Amino acid sequence: MALIVQKYGGTSVGSPDRIKNLARRVARFKALGHQIVVVVSAMSGETNRLINLAKEIMPEPDPRELDVMVATGEQVTIGLTAMALMELGLKAKSYTGSQVRIVTDNAHTKARILRIDEERIRADLDAGNVVVVAGFQGVDENGNITTLGRGGSDTTGVALAAALKADECQIYTDVDGVYTTDPRVVPEARRLKSITFEEMLELASQGSKVLQIRSVEFAGKYKVKLRVLSSFEEDGEGTLITFEDPENKDSNMEQPIISGIAFNRDEAKIMVLGVPDKPGIAYQILGPVADAKIDVDMIIQNMGADGTTDFTFTVHKNDMSKALGILNQVQGHIGAREIRGDDKIAKVSIVGVGMRSHVGIASQMFRTLAEEGINIQMISTSEIKIAVVIDEKYMELAVRVLHKAFELEEA
Ligand code: ADP
Ligand code: ASP
Ligand code: MG
Repeated sequence: MALIVQKYGGTSVGSPDRIKNLARRVARFKALGHQIVVVVSAMSGETNRLINLAKEIMPEPDPRELDVMVATGEQVTIGLTAMALMELGLKAKSYTGSQVRIVTDNAHTKARILRIDEERIRADLDAGNVVVVAGFQGVDENGNITTLGRGGSDTTGVALAAALKADECQIYTDVDGVYTTDPRVVPEARRLKSITFEEMLELASQGSKVLQIRSVEFAGKYKVKLRVLSSFEEDGEGTLITFEDPENKDSNMEQPIISGIAFNRDEAKIMVLGVPDKPGIAYQILGPVADAKIDVDMIIQNMGADGTTDFTFTVHKNDMSKALGILNQVQGHIGAREIRGDDKIAKVSIVGVGMRSHVGIASQMFRTLAEEGINIQMISTSEIKIAVVIDEKYMELAVRVLHKAFELEEA
């Protein structure tokens, strides 16, 4: 007998038939003697609908109130899922995040899980119930409802698996595993049987939305056995996230150089041009941005010949106008000639632990893009990743040619 946490995403609970289908899968696992905790997202499209509804009332919705109403999407699906299980003759009980007590910090719309009171779930499981928990939501110490950021149900699933010391966390979605890149953009993309935790972390952080990055972080921290699977197939092994010793050279040598390509259209570029080149300038630019709780991703500083420098960084598109507003206020103080924003950019990243033991990967990437006439605006690298910022309109082309150049397609 195993304890398994199964998380089902929006498409997998997108209609009554799909919820019934989910219930049949759970029943099969129950029949094998397993204890099952189900985590569900809102029905597909519902979270977007709720956010848009809020914006019709308040263009910049109050975060606390937004969380209160957006969390209802998942409250609907837990009830429906428990009913579907009951209709199959199973015992089932549903809980919202605050009923479980998935305790988070108070950072509304992007809260972090601090702890989970799991005793109640355990008692229900021991009494033979399937426990159904709402993904994406929690409650802060003062009883305010919080949400965990878009895609946050993955994190609920993995965090529950960690708290319950589950044998496995299964993420059921609308693709049958993690692919070399998004199969919706590159149909030749190939499913990976396994991927290292480090690579998955990097892919998720660079924009692959198949797993929310925090869910991967949780899996790494608590060594949760994590697998991505299709909710539309009866069987299939999906993709296992593995925790190999990164120092293990033998396993590294068998690694392909590049495992996957991620892309992200959610960032905007901000350029602070012609600032005097003197100590403290980076701090004067980024300090006020950080004070406004705006996350900065890539940063580049270029030396000009005339003693001035250009400073460029990226933020989430949603934060661009706020960041520009802040910088316009300090422009006189920092002595910048001009401040510009550009949200027509995309970031494309190649990821692979095999990069560590190979040289020339960056030049191969840059040559491939150059051959297509794609200009690189920014570059950032880590040991297992190279990311470039390019014009948004070339994003899909860049992903396709890189996928081919690094021979990632189906053999
Ligand atoms: P869910 O609603 O089940 O959480 P998501 O839409 O959040 O599903 O994530 C699944 C989607 O992630 C897929 O439909 C696919 O388009 C996208 N995706 C992006 N990169 C990858 C990748 N490398 N492998 C598989 N899917 C990917
Ligand atoms: N329903 C939430 C969202 O759309 C959480 C999730 O699906 O994981 O972002
Ligand atoms: Mg998701």
